[in-house]
Amino acid sequence: MDTVIGRFAPSPSGRMHLGNAFSALMAWAAARSADGKIILRIEDLDPRAQDPHNASLLMDDLHWLGLDWDEGPIFQSQRQEIYLDALAQLQSKDLLYPCFCSRADLHAATAPHASDGTYVYKGTCRNLSQNEVAQRLLEKAPAMRLKVPDAHDPSGTISFTDLVYGFQQENLSIDCGDFLVQRSDHIIAYQLAVVVDDALTGVTQVVRGADLLLSTPRQIYLQRLLAYPTPAYAHIPLLVSADGRRLSKRDKDLDLGTLRACGIPAERIIGLLAAAAGLANPRERLFADNVAERFAWEPLRKHRANVNIRDAFAF
Ligand code: GLU
Repeated sequence: MDTVIGRFAPSPSGRMHLGNAFSALMAWAAARSADGKIILRIEDLDPRAQDPHNASLLMDDLHWLGLDWDEGPIFQSQRQEIYLDALAQLQSKDLLYPCFCSRADLHAATAPHASDGTYVYKGTCRNLSQNEVAQRLLEKAPAMRLKVPDAHDPSGTISFTDLVYGFQQENLSIDCGDFLVQRSDHIIAYQLAVVVDDALTGVTQVVRGADLLLSTPRQIYLQRLLAYPTPAYAHIPLLVSADGRRLSKRDKDLDLGTLRACGIPAERIIGLLAAAAGLANPRERLFADNVAERFAWEPLRKHRANVNIRDAFAF
């Protein structure tokens, strides 16, 4: 069997919190349990996420947790040319068009995506005439969107079997619409950058938070257009706070900076995260290596509900 190549791909927009650590541990343990490799990619395309201090804290936190990597860090901010090349390939197939919609236009003219709060783009700018485009270009810089096939075209129905969440299927036209590949400030959109990076670094297994489950059909569609292979996908349950909210930078008390400053040992955090994956009892203290030894997808599949991490931690 081919070597598993996994990756973790954090955005260095703040200190790592337990949710990020959970994704990193699962990606690492899944790869290591299969004698695979792991790549660290820093997703710092957005200038607001380009703080080198955050990136080095992030790496320090990963080391402290006992998570290592074989390749990287690869910084997305240094790979602009590579993404532009992929963008040009899509452009040459006449699959892109400029979009002048403002955020307010999008909210007014689109239907929210049922499950993740994003919107379905209704194609407002898809059929602008050349004259209209020329006129609008004088007023503002456009974003670039990728045309997805019509609802009845089978190539626009994307299915895959997630290693944790099972069979997934989406009709791109109905469930998402033409999507962004470049923002109006020229920053390459996450969907395109992630697909290019995963393919060009040989990633065969993507393990990440379930908040990205609905992005996967878009990414698979891009892989097909760019003639890239599709890796295996495993989305893991989200860690939430008591009110059901996904952990975020607002939960400062659960970020690695605070937990480390409070003297919580890494083994306690690893044990807790392993328990959230159904691989340990919440009170167990474990090293990352122990989690790799006992790693399996089945326990994650059994309870793929969000995990209330505050109750689990109870401190
Ligand atoms: N950078 C994303 C995050 O920190 C993860 C992207 C991915 O794993 O595909 O949530």
